[in-house]
Amino acid sequence: MKSARRYLTTPLYYVNAKPHLGHSYTTILVDVIKRHLVQRGNPVIALTGTDEHGEKIEQMAKAAGQDPKAFADEISGHFRETWKQMHLDFDIFYRTTDASHVKKVQQALTKLKDQGDIVYREYTGNYCLGCERFRTDAELTADGLCPDHQKKPEARSEANYFFLMSKYQKRLIDHIEKNPSFIEPAHYKNEVLAFLKQPLEDLSISRPKSRLKWGIELPFDSNHVTYVWFDALLNYLNATGWPDQFDQALWESVTHFTAKDILKPHGIYWPTMLMALNVPQYKTLQVHGYWLMGQSKMSKSLGNVVRPLEVEEKYGRETLRFFLLREMSFGLDSSFTLENYVTCINAYLANGIGNLVSRVLTIALKNFPGTLALDEKTLTAEDKKALEARASALSQWDQGFDELKYQNSLKAWSDLVTAVDLYVNEMKPWALAKAAGTGDATATERLKTVMGVCLRLIQAAAVIIYPVLPRASLDILKTLGVQFSGPAPDSKLALEDRREFKLGAEVPKLFMRVQLPSVDA
Ligand SMILES: [Zn+2]
Repeated sequence: MKSARRYLTTPLYYVNAKPHLGHSYTTILVDVIKRHLVQRGNPVIALTGTDEHGEKIEQMAKAAGQDPKAFADEISGHFRETWKQMHLDFDIFYRTTDASHVKKVQQALTKLKDQGDIVYREYTGNYCLGCERFRTDAELTADGLCPDHQKKPEARSEANYFFLMSKYQKRLIDHIEKNPSFIEPAHYKNEVLAFLKQPLEDLSISRPKSRLKWGIELPFDSNHVTYVWFDALLNYLNATGWPDQFDQALWESVTHFTAKDILKPHGIYWPTMLMALNVPQYKTLQVHGYWLMGQSKMSKSLGNVVRPLEVEEKYGRETLRFFLLREMSFGLDSSFTLENYVTCINAYLANGIGNLVSRVLTIALKNFPGTLALDEKTLTAEDKKALEARASALSQWDQGFDELKYQNSLKAWSDLVTAVDLYVNEMKPWALAKAAGTGDATATERLKTVMGVCLRLIQAAAVIIYPVLPRASLDILKTLGVQFSGPAPDSKLALEDRREFKLGAEVPKLFMRVQLPSVDA
């Protein structure tokens, strides 16, 4: 049976800042989930990209003395380059300034206007420049500030085009209630439902050119450009070929991943837009919390920025992926501290898998250079018991992904590594090697079996961790002589009872122990 295709998206990142940890988490997570699904036989299309229109970009470009498009090109390039250097595997890098996007947004606007879902009217309200939208009184803090930007919105009055979102309120509530996994984890679904208890206001989807020129011109009024959220959200659909070459099956498999600050556009604007466009609803929205530095949300405006490439360069490749997946309970906020990062690298990567691979392979390569053959008949009850840890680790790993409990998956994996370490400690292969060196044939046979068992277990650990540590995983598999066809090792390879390991010549260098920078640095 052919497995179903899946479509995964990150938000399009707004080009007002270079990539930081918050962006990196969502993008790494989608890369990890893509690799996991591919291991289980699902073809996956993954999309990321940049959102490039709007008032903030126009103002920042002006301040930098640049044309907005040149400014957007530069920042968009930083995103593309960062993801490339971090080896994140995306099929589509989408830009909202591309001509095909502009055309499709105008097609969507024309359809909605023609069917009476867009009207022109006057509006007065609190406009937050940071959010680039009007915020209702109920959305502001007790002091009248935008909760996300901690700034007082401007009072603004203007005539704009409105998308009649309120028409779809009832249908949206019904859809969310009938589809429990539409917004996950459940507390975000409840947040959206709580918001929908109030009457939904219509969405202003245009800006007069007198105020903003950097946007997609409305096809029915050349004095206005499109509101940046209305323009950007359509990317997810447009990338599937909508409307003329719509790959509807792919679209219906879509999972959107996003941080909680943009729950409302994704949980309310977007599904009502899809209803109005008469397109099937997206499958699932999965929402994660913030990465905090201390107690503050990490964002450029608050000045607490961790640059993903810089930390990877300093602390080792793939260490950030592992830390982010291990540390964040999906849906809740997590703190990033260098102390925790360093502790995690040393405990699970340097002292964990790194040390295990090194101690086992050093003995194996020295005593059985070339090929190590494992005779099934020589396995003891203890060996068989040790090998059983593979199946339970794999099933807990998969279960963690299925339940959005990635921490559980990573814990199951590090438990497997610990179990192999214990097996090594009990079997004392170094003592067997010493006896074998004196010509003890029984010790030689036993050493071969113990090494074979360790290599099967290391193969399992490498296959299982592939989504999170793809390059380390492939380095280990290569040294073990484990080959596979296709883009990723099939997850079933974790349970393979391999009889023969054609070993490489060298122990792979995986992870180094790291230290906290000294206080003066
Ligand atoms: Zn705001």
